[in-house]
Amino acid sequence: METALAIELEGARIAVGAVDRAGHVHESEAVEPNGERTGGTYELLAECIERVRSRTARHGGQIVVCGISIGGGDDLDGTTADGGVADSRAADRLRGRLSTLVGVPVYADTEGRGFALGEGWVGAAKGCNNFVAMLVGHTVRGGAVVDGRLLDGSLGAAGRIGHVMVEPDGRRCACGARGCLQSEVSIDAIESASGRPLTEPTYDVMRRVGQLIGRAGAAAATLLDVGLIVCGGRVAREYASTLFLAAQEEIDQLCRLPFDKGARIVSARTPSPSGLISAAAIGWRGLAMAGG
Ligand SMILES: [Zn+2]
Repeated sequence: METALAIELEGARIAVGAVDRAGHVHESEAVEPNGERTGGTYELLAECIERVRSRTARHGGQIVVCGISIGGGDDLDGTTADGGVADSRAADRLRGRLSTLVGVPVYADTEGRGFALGEGWVGAAKGCNNFVAMLVGHTVRGGAVVDGRLLDGSLGAAGRIGHVMVEPDGRRCACGARGCLQSEVSIDAIESASGRPLTEPTYDVMRRVGQLIGRAGAAAATLLDVGLIVCGGRVAREYASTLFLAAQEEIDQLCRLPFDKGARIVSARTPSPSGLISAAAIGWRGLAMAGG
């Protein structure tokens, strides 16, 4: 059975798995560099890959592609592997090393864009050709699928909904602007603005986060003619229906044109481990675009 070697790089955590063309995860394991043992991150990753590859082969799986989902950290730091832009130099270096190691084509992209691919593949946007997906956690990342294709843009960064402005006099964002969605609704922004941990919000905090997410979602729906916004990540999980109701109300307020009216925001549904499914989706997409 053909499988994708899926690699999720998420802050201090590395996960590796084998995922088939139907989105089933057959093997998986995760390691945390800087844990009890020493050694370089790349060496740990390589060991992890070797174990997953050998178990996959033993069970009759054949790895034909490798997909990497790059997340964690701030997306503006071009010196680390989470360059944010899919073809950043750091991601390119990693891709080059891994392609020698695994001997199959390697494709890398951001976790937000991988999340969009995963949701379209086996999640809440399955069967939907036009949607925007956003992942709200320590950063806000996303991807836009239009006419059945993940939009790339000039630098491969299309769908960066975290830096859409939602509050004109809002908080200063890491990008230098004010009031970006990320600077208002990321975990750190919520905690610092409210003075409370993410898990102990007031009702008003949850409503406001939902409203701002809805505002960005509405802008995307209007701009791209998509009727579906998928929202996932830790903030969406924690604030659940309160967030989604407030977001939907905001979208209903803002989307009044014949084509954007009725746009819906829904919760992510990619099964766990969703990060590995995102990574595999990046790999399968790369292979399909290369004609494989
Ligand atoms: Zn910003």
